[in-house]
Amino acid sequence: MKKVWKNWSRDVLIAMISLVFVAMIVCCVIMLTGYTDELHEQAGTKALLFITDTSGYLDDSLNTYLYKTGLAAEKLNTLETENFFEFSQALRDLTLEERFSNVCFSRFFKDGVEFDTTTNVEYPTSDESSTVVRLSNRGEIGFAGILTDRKYNITVAAFCAPIKDCEFADSIVLYYPVGDVVTLAGNQKTDYTESARTVLLCAADGEVVNVVGDSDDFGVQLHDNVYQFLAREINDKSVTDNLRDTILKNELATYPVLIENETHILSVGSAGGKDAPIFLIGIYRAIDLYNAEYSTVSTILGALIIFVVLMIFFVIYFFVSRRRTARMLLTIGDIDSDLDCPTQKHFERESATLISRNRGSIFSIVVIEMNHYDYIREHYGDEFTKRILLYLKLIITNSLKLDETYGYMGSGRFVLLLHDRDRDALKDRIQILCGLAHNYRADMPQGYHIELVGGIYEERQNVTNDVGKMIDLALEAKNALNMETDFGSFRFFSEHLKERRSLNEYIEMNMNSALENKHFRVFYQPKYNIPNDRPDSCEALVRWYNPEWDEYMRPGEFMPLFEANGFIVKLDKYVYEQVCTYIEESVLHGEVLYPVSVNVSRITALQKDFLDYYISVKKKHNIADRFITLEFTESAAYENYEGLRDTVNALHQNGFKCSIDDFGTGYSSYNILKEIPMDEIKLDRFFMLQGLSGERDMKILESVIKIARELNMKVVQEGVETPEQLELLRRLGCHVIQGYYYSKPLAQSDYVTFITEHFKNSDFVNRH
Ligand code: C2E
Ligand code: CA
Ligand code: CA
Repeated sequence: MKKVWKNWSRDVLIAMISLVFVAMIVCCVIMLTGYTDELHEQAGTKALLFITDTSGYLDDSLNTYLYKTGLAAEKLNTLETENFFEFSQALRDLTLEERFSNVCFSRFFKDGVEFDTTTNVEYPTSDESSTVVRLSNRGEIGFAGILTDRKYNITVAAFCAPIKDCEFADSIVLYYPVGDVVTLAGNQKTDYTESARTVLLCAADGEVVNVVGDSDDFGVQLHDNVYQFLAREINDKSVTDNLRDTILKNELATYPVLIENETHILSVGSAGGKDAPIFLIGIYRAIDLYNAEYSTVSTILGALIIFVVLMIFFVIYFFVSRRRTARMLLTIGDIDSDLDCPTQKHFERESATLISRNRGSIFSIVVIEMNHYDYIREHYGDEFTKRILLYLKLIITNSLKLDETYGYMGSGRFVLLLHDRDRDALKDRIQILCGLAHNYRADMPQGYHIELVGGIYEERQNVTNDVGKMIDLALEAKNALNMETDFGSFRFFSEHLKERRSLNEYIEMNMNSALENKHFRVFYQPKYNIPNDRPDSCEALVRWYNPEWDEYMRPGEFMPLFEANGFIVKLDKYVYEQVCTYIEESVLHGEVLYPVSVNVSRITALQKDFLDYYISVKKKHNIADRFITLEFTESAAYENYEGLRDTVNALHQNGFKCSIDDFGTGYSSYNILKEIPMDEIKLDRFFMLQGLSGERDMKILESVIKIARELNMKVVQEGVETPEQLELLRRLGCHVIQGYYYSKPLAQSDYVTFITEHFKNSDFVNRH
């Protein structure tokens, strides 16, 4: 309840923080927008100030030229000229004086008709010069505008002044280069022009008559039309319309506009008076006009961005920490505290996620188990076992690739989710793990190596989608005792394995009744004594008779299962009793008889009553000493030499012989020879498969036989199938052979027939 409340209150907190966060952002945006508007307004005012100033400068300049023209008119008034030509000459001479030196040309009016002073002929008044005509008619002094003269083809500023009491002229007009008149000079070129992207001077109709500023970013040319230029750059008709209005009304104004996606300020101002207005158009980047303020804005913006980033981090942190807490709550059951690694439960969940996230990949579930875990823990303690497991964990985690995972299942067992694009690559990876485990040396008991066993379920088998079930199937593959491994001690899950499973079920269901109904039958495989050329003894091998099919099942089919379920103990005792009964009866009937070897499994040998039972049964059946040999497999020995030595000694005292079976396949073959006083050594069939194939293998076989002989042990070679093998063994000094070459395992009656036929008088056959 407390947890739910805690989660709920955290949710509310996060919701509130998010809300505050959103509200703050909205406020900041509103404030910033307001502030930007205000800044635009400020920039507009600044531009307006500039344009007012500049218009003033221009007016001053125009007035200077007007004054000069007035001076010229006064001078002409005082001159008494005789005729029209003299007047014309006088005006031309005047303009040659230094103070009028920049006059381009001059003209004068008489009765509304204009005359040129250079040609003295009538000059046709044009549209451009209508203001000149108007002023002249009115007899007023004034700026007559900027016009392009047709005769000289130059743009000029025209200034008009009346001539009084002169019969040849009513007014004069002086034409000055427009650049001289409207160019801002020296200190007049202030911030207005310097900070502008362009400042254009235009005539009333919009013709650009001068580019005033120091620079022009837009490449405007003289005579361009300013309306066209603005329409092109601004692309907002309402702005250009407003502008035209302002110009026509001869007003001052500024507009914020967007040029090249950036806020600019457009300013308009006029000079020259009502009759012949000229216009100044200035274009500024807004930020150039409010530099200081803009940096404030950037600071605010920067702060806002930092704030936003911090808030985002804050929110992310909240969610992440929440998830982590959630995960931590889960991990209580997800981590094996001892090894500090994921449990099976966690593994199952994570694997399910990885599998569904990587639909294109094929995975395998691999169960890897440390062999003899229980035994090692029992004998070497928890700390020692934990060190091994931590080493296994280390090599496993190091081997994992992206999107793979693992978990610890307990009892020395790990489970892995591995990519399985091809089987061989997977095998290699597992074998590398096995190799690394094998090489682990830190304080291992002498001669012992970690052995890994396991099972693999491949996703491509398509039996189930449930990771838990996949693990079960991998385990089943691992535990498929009576099946060959696929590589090392590993098995893949397969359909075949399923058949095995049902066979196992059959075996487990029927083993007890089979025992009761005497369906387990003992076969005897005769052994041949090489130097004496006669039967030596035999080995009792169990078969399971199936009356339904009238067939015998070989121990390979059921022994591993019996070893796992403990039934082997009952079966071993049963076989042993059968053998004892046979010997007893054989003696009673005076039949030919040779010593018999009986297999004793590791589990049977480890039973508390093992010695008592085997000794008492021998006694019960009156078996003479040395007639029974017990065969122990090497694996029984390596785990506990001392225990086995005691057992062997006790057996010797009670008239048993002891043999070490399957020699050459185990772990510490040579140690066992030194440690335990065995009577016989049975070389594994492995030597027959490999012993003849090369010089080196021959040497090994030879030296094993030599050592055994030196230790006074009888040497028996199993699995001899050919006369060549026999000859080789004879040469190497092997005493006895067992194998198909001499005889297969035979049913009791067949065996008796066999030895009776091979019996030689010299043989020691039964007790007398
Ligand atoms: P093992 O003790 O090594 O027995 C020898 C096995 O080799 C027997 O297999 C035998 O039939 C087989 N064999 C003998 N000569 C040849 C040969 O020339 N070529 C080949 N390829 N094989 C040969 P089997 O009877 O199938 O027994 C298998 C194993 O089952 C035995 O191996 C033994 O470990 C176990 N076993 C048999 N009976 C008993 C029993 O009563 N108790 C216990 N604990 N184990 C038994
Ligand atoms: Ca054997
Ligand atoms: Ca054997």
